[in-house]
Amino acid sequence: MLVVKKFGGTSVANKERIFNVARRCIDEYKKGNDVVVVLSAMGDTTDDLIEMAKDINPNPPKREMDMLMVTGEQVSVSLMVMAMASLGVPAVSLNAFQVQMHTTKVYGNARLKKIDTERIQTELDNKKIVVVTGFQGVNKYDDATTLGRGGSDTTAVALAAALKADICEIYTDVEGVYTADPRVVKNARKLKEISYDEMLNMATLGAQVLHNRSVEMAKKYGVQLVVRSSLNEAEGTVVKEVAKVEKRVISGVAADKTPSRISLIGLQDTPGIAFKIFNVLAKKNISVDFILQSVGRDGTKDISFTVDENNLQSTLDALNEYKETFTAERIEHEENVAKVSAVGSGMMTDPNITVKIFEALFNEGINVKMISTSEIRITVLIDEKDVDKATKAIHDAFELED
Ligand code: ASP
Ligand code: MG
Repeated sequence: MLVVKKFGGTSVANKERIFNVARRCIDEYKKGNDVVVVLSAMGDTTDDLIEMAKDINPNPPKREMDMLMVTGEQVSVSLMVMAMASLGVPAVSLNAFQVQMHTTKVYGNARLKKIDTERIQTELDNKKIVVVTGFQGVNKYDDATTLGRGGSDTTAVALAAALKADICEIYTDVEGVYTADPRVVKNARKLKEISYDEMLNMATLGAQVLHNRSVEMAKKYGVQLVVRSSLNEAEGTVVKEVAKVEKRVISGVAADKTPSRISLIGLQDTPGIAFKIFNVLAKKNISVDFILQSVGRDGTKDISFTVDENNLQSTLDALNEYKETFTAERIEHEENVAKVSAVGSGMMTDPNITVKIFEALFNEGINVKMISTSEIRITVLIDEKDVDKATKAIHDAFELED
């Protein structure tokens, strides 16, 4: 059996934890399995590197940022192999260049395109544990790239797919995927299973446990994932195509405090306006979400949407520049808003779910600013200060049922 195991930064934060991970991997190896390990940088290393860079130059060249960031993972993989060697087990560390993990060319947010498996396979055939740097790749200029924050999960899944691994285990500092953030909701439960689609929604809508691109890739290549703790032996959460619905309609509640809302008021109610607005933003590479258009009244309409708060200023600048082309009377924005989402495959067929969510929010006196739904999720935009209250209220509304 071939197993890919990925450990996050906290799981390799110090000497003791590095040895803990080394032992867990060795246990697997001693069962006679092939073991590929993917590591993140130790502890807060990536944050520290970013801080160092910004101290030298607040606006560092992107290429050099990646050159710097990839060092973090090289530290953890080499130390890991040293630990394994001291325990008498043959292992080898490889970075993205040595493996050849090919990505698109964009620095800071590259996408994996293709992974060569030859080198890893040779090392496995030589009965070594192979320890690979997460988060990084190499582009067509032979330059180092990174996959975006949290990208090591994606490295692990991509490797599992390329190597046709039997399982991909994501080890982290929590015991699995929970129905809500356990720090916010005391009675949040760990899920035994969750489907790719539910997990993808949870990850995209704010659950921190998996990088959303890793879930996308797992679904595409049918890689079965297990999310579990690196600190104990507790059974984790299995992420797969169809999860057995354990008598539940919603699988989880996720919260995201990063969005800001923008509204363009008094637009002409004629064709092409929305196209012009979103075309401008697309050209600036700004992704938008939660688009809402009001019903036309007296020849005018309003369009509202959300952007990541980090993009708020550049979005406003871009919109103001073209304000006349859109015929907008004014442009409003609100920074302190947040998204709370209920996710679950069970919600598709049951109209009562929506009612229950709105009732729970109403009981807490929480005002809903915008609503968006899909087959398996309902997202509301609310004041940021109400996020925890809303998460608890929605969670309780469903939890009380079982
Ligand atoms: N070290 C990188 C980060 O902190 C990648 C990862 O941990 O997945 O974002
Ligand atoms: Mg992570």
